[in-house]
Amino acid sequence: MGKKFVYMFSEGNGSMRELLGGKGANLAEMTGLGMPVPQGFTVTTEACTQYYADGEKINEEIQAEIYANLAKLEEIAGKKFGDLENPLLVSVRSGARASMPGMMDTILNLGLNDEVVEVMAKKTNNPRFAYDSYRRFIQMYSDVVMEVGKAYFEKLIDEMKEKKGVKMDTELDADDLKELARQFKAEYKEKKGVDFPTDPKEQLMGAIMAVFRSWDNPRAIYYRRMNDIPSSWGTAVNVQMMVFGNTGDNSGTGVAFTRNPATGEKKLFGEFLMNAQGEDVVAGVRTPQTIDQLAEVMPEAYNQFVEICGRLENHYRDMQDMEFTIEDRKLFMLQTRNGKRTAAAALKIACDLVDEGMISEKEAVCMIDPKQLDALLHPQFDAKALKAAKPIGSALPASPGAACGKVVFTAEDATEWAQKGEKVILVRLETSPEDIEGMHYSQGILTVRGGMTSHAAVVARGMGTCCVSGCGEIKMDEENKCFTLAGKTYHEGDYISLDGSTGNIYGEAIPTVEASIGGDFGRLMGWADEYRQLKVRTNADTPKDAQQAMSFGAQGIGLCRTEHMFFETDRIAAIREMICSDTVEQREAALAKLLPMQRGDFEGIYEAMQGNPVTIRFLDPPLHEFVPTAEEDIAALAKTMGKSVSDIHAIIAGLHEFNPMMGHRGCRLAVTYPEIAAMQTRAVIEAALNVQAKHPDWKMVPEIMIPLVGEVKELAYVKSVVVKTADELIAAAKSDMKYKVGTMIEIPRAALTADEIAKEAEFFSFGTNDLTQMTFGFSRDDAGKFLGAYYDKKIYESDPFAKLDQTGVGKLVEMAAKLGRATRPDIHLGICGEHGGDPSTVEFCHNTGLDYVSCSPFRVPIARLAAAQAAIKNPR
Ligand code: ADP
Ligand code: MG
Ligand code: MG
Repeated sequence: MGKKFVYMFSEGNGSMRELLGGKGANLAEMTGLGMPVPQGFTVTTEACTQYYADGEKINEEIQAEIYANLAKLEEIAGKKFGDLENPLLVSVRSGARASMPGMMDTILNLGLNDEVVEVMAKKTNNPRFAYDSYRRFIQMYSDVVMEVGKAYFEKLIDEMKEKKGVKMDTELDADDLKELARQFKAEYKEKKGVDFPTDPKEQLMGAIMAVFRSWDNPRAIYYRRMNDIPSSWGTAVNVQMMVFGNTGDNSGTGVAFTRNPATGEKKLFGEFLMNAQGEDVVAGVRTPQTIDQLAEVMPEAYNQFVEICGRLENHYRDMQDMEFTIEDRKLFMLQTRNGKRTAAAALKIACDLVDEGMISEKEAVCMIDPKQLDALLHPQFDAKALKAAKPIGSALPASPGAACGKVVFTAEDATEWAQKGEKVILVRLETSPEDIEGMHYSQGILTVRGGMTSHAAVVARGMGTCCVSGCGEIKMDEENKCFTLAGKTYHEGDYISLDGSTGNIYGEAIPTVEASIGGDFGRLMGWADEYRQLKVRTNADTPKDAQQAMSFGAQGIGLCRTEHMFFETDRIAAIREMICSDTVEQREAALAKLLPMQRGDFEGIYEAMQGNPVTIRFLDPPLHEFVPTAEEDIAALAKTMGKSVSDIHAIIAGLHEFNPMMGHRGCRLAVTYPEIAAMQTRAVIEAALNVQAKHPDWKMVPEIMIPLVGEVKELAYVKSVVVKTADELIAAAKSDMKYKVGTMIEIPRAALTADEIAKEAEFFSFGTNDLTQMTFGFSRDDAGKFLGAYYDKKIYESDPFAKLDQTGVGKLVEMAAKLGRATRPDIHLGICGEHGGDPSTVEFCHNTGLDYVSCSPFRVPIARLAAAQAAIKNPR
């Protein structure tokens, strides 16, 4: 016997989500609990996969199974499909494993045609109801089959209402609805070139296929990519006997949550509409009543519903989101699922359920989506003000949070205005490393070009600053300091607002409120910390970021980039002098100017980290990033260096590289200019000695990280420079301070020869940004141009720079960890790429046995929770 592709609700249960989809599994579960569920059957997700394997066809075997189960349903219902005495009508509902709200469409009242509708009208003695159901069916079926969108038929309805001089669709009478049904069918014929199907069985197959097809519509594909849902899962289809909320004033339909999904408050929350069907409640055709009003309108149904809510919550041990319909005073349950909720509500509900004895602390830790916490850590818009505002455009939600401020067009202006106390939003074509300071001073950043991993996006996320990137609709006029969007021009100083969580752009000021970390949050993180085995560090380059991360629970710094410090106005001159030096002496003189500044930076960071470990990475980017581009800056540099302007131009030209990503950078800088490494070592060790002297109880062990190593000998060479400098300083200070020298594993060759490298390196930190680009052979700055085509063709399903490619890059990480440990069993292992804060990557790092992950400050709580979930799932 072959596979079973169709299950009656009475054959399934809640644990069969993978096969039956979430909706189907829960309908089966409620059936098993003896709740009033209109019966039906589920065509499995495997049938969907088979449909695609068969070249978008439902094969005969599956068709036969569907018809066999339809016959069983007819038996249960005591009604027959297409029957002219007692017709059965069904709904056809999609339902994937994970809920994908609004992604696929539902068809109600299937089984109606010109004859059956007459029977319905006579039988119920309610022609208005019959024709209302009919026009809805044609509308929904056509929408799904023609893929024209729900609004398409609304204009015909509006025209009808206008013609009849009425406002609400309940005021349309049977004849009006009959006429609408006729118009809808004509529309279908015109668009599809064939008559609207009258045979219910043909309607049924058409509808099931349409649901399968909708699995692959662009909205669904996009939603899957955003939510890491593989396309191989497929969707199930539920075929369910109709119950009618639109038979008159004794009927209605509604939705409800067992607790408030916005706040978590333990109180039934929902709405209903009398004489309505399906999505009327949420569609806003009429204003619904709140759920507690049902107690007055129909007390018996209300009481029964409240009782069911309690049972469902106890059964699923989580807040439920339910759909119900009342047909002639009789209550039917149409759906239940664990309800979506805001981050704040999620935390409150988890804590309340623990207090109510319903779940354990461990279960509470597992029920929060780590990514959701993000929303709690950034400023938010005032909810009322946001509701009243209308976006003027939208682009990529590159870095979450809400921002409101005056438009500026250059990083310098951002700094200047902000220092005068203005709140600003930096609007740029794209950002570059030179803009860092201005970005820091901005409330939010809006770019015309660039994807989710563009410079602006990565830096903004690191800073926890709101960023909306890649708004191609903006017409930018940098010269005149203005831009045009949605037909309106915005000048320097005009207010705009950005929502980094949705990507929405508003042409007005919307007030924001600071995020607050309430008690539930801390309580849950405390539980998470008890379970996790991975340590969580942060990527921080400034004392401010370090402090922020400490307040979010970071246990150290996994990556402190030293180059960002050089971009600040007072330092860039010295580094430019160093670059333009001809001799070692000149270079050392320039570096000597940098030494006290860098030492001061490190002291600030050590102070902020209060004795926790800090890994400092030596200079990494190619030097051309530091040289001036503006003519006046070049002239100024020429003057200080005692050179001609053309000399400086020649030096700059000499720094040009065809592929800077693979050019003169990382430890290669230290190999060619060891005095840079010597100066940086001096800054690190002197800072550590100074801070240690101030805080005798801290145990300072500086960690120096050499970037971009591919060969053990280059590490050995740079390390020798570091060790010589450090040992001298420590000896001179008569200190017994220990320090560590390690490396980043970010070049595939380093991963392949990790056993060799571990002879010199006391720790590895996987730099998965570079490791990803070098392994894939494409740069993250350019990948945006073609990744779209790769998603469309399903070659890649997610951005490898956001979610670690565990198959390829992950294999290198695993291998390097193993090789490294073989040489040096106590080698300390961590990850410091953008991936460090991504929950699925955190899980991977836990499973690979790394010691810690390091991520931007705002992702620290996310990583802590993800690490706890990984440890609970797979203790090591
Ligand atoms: P979604 O997943 O978008 O919520 P659903 O499949 O749940 O779509 O259905 C859309 C609407 O139709 C819901 O309001 C649901 O309650 C209603 N509905 C679905 N099936 C039936 C049915 N058999 N009888 C009455 N109403 C139904
Ligand atoms: Mg639903
Ligand atoms: Mg790197």
